Amino acid sequence: MSMEQNYKAYAQRRLEMAESHYGPLWLNQEQRYVHPFRIFGNVWYVGDSWVCVHLIDTGDGLLLIDSGNSGATAMLVQAIWEAGFNPADVKWIIHSHGHLDHIGGAMFFKRMFGTRLYLGEPDARMFREKPWISAIQDAYSDCAELFVPDVEIHEGDVLTFGNTTMTFYLVPGHTDGCIAAFFDAYEDGRTVRCGYYGGFGFNTLQKDYLIEIGDSEYKTREIYLESLKKVRDQKVELFLGNHCINNDTLGRRQIQLENPDGPNPFLDDQLWKQYLDKKRDDLLALMADPKNN
Ligand SMILES: [Zn+2]
Repeated sequence: MSMEQNYKAYAQRRLEMAESHYGPLWLNQEQRYVHPFRIFGNVWYVGDSWVCVHLIDTGDGLLLIDSGNSGATAMLVQAIWEAGFNPADVKWIIHSHGHLDHIGGAMFFKRMFGTRLYLGEPDARMFREKPWISAIQDAYSDCAELFVPDVEIHEGDVLTFGNTTMTFYLVPGHTDGCIAAFFDAYEDGRTVRCGYYGGFGFNTLQKDYLIEIGDSEYKTREIYLESLKKVRDQKVELFLGNHCINNDTLGRRQIQLENPDGPNPFLDDQLWKQYLDKKRDDLLALMADPKNN
């Protein structure tokens, strides 16, 4: 292929990407940059306006929950600096699940800083056996890559990172290896219980998707409902989103900006239950609709 033909093939791919369903999520990611902010005490927001990334200052190194969208690692590094931290101090990354929009920075942090990578055991297996389920091929970059986790997370694991001890559960549904995590955050002598649910999207519960992965009886939907039920009654005073839409991350940030001395808009001990119940009801409605069966 000549240079000119090669360029034209590239230009055609760009055009097709721009016109595709997900293309706009990959082009001009910088428009989704969010200035990082403190959510509560040692818990910071360093994600963009679509995919959440949380930073926990454990007092003995930094922990990230998720590593951002594929192709967004420069933004994540900028957000960590802007929050007043050094990206080289990120010792651990806990991945909510193995989809391409949550694992983008994993190999960068591992190779640059020796960061240890964590992923739910079923999604680690998915990376080995059915890597296409990760959708990494939709990253529009052959440089995007999966990883071998240093630690696979199992049901009931209790792991300590500096001053932070996390209890993990597997909450399969959105993917087989979604994790839920519960831990304490600290601010001026006050402790609050944080809850995190690693993947709510119904995109992987749709009929055509389930048939393609071999679940022609749609058992994944029942598994998703069981996962919601399993962790619904956990005590959660601070619900951290997986995507901003889950807890209206940016709406709460706006309240925080407008009233910095007011009550912390992220603290709400009902939100976790309310959101999990909403997902249950939405899924039951999806299942009851004949066009999905
Ligand atoms: Zn996902």
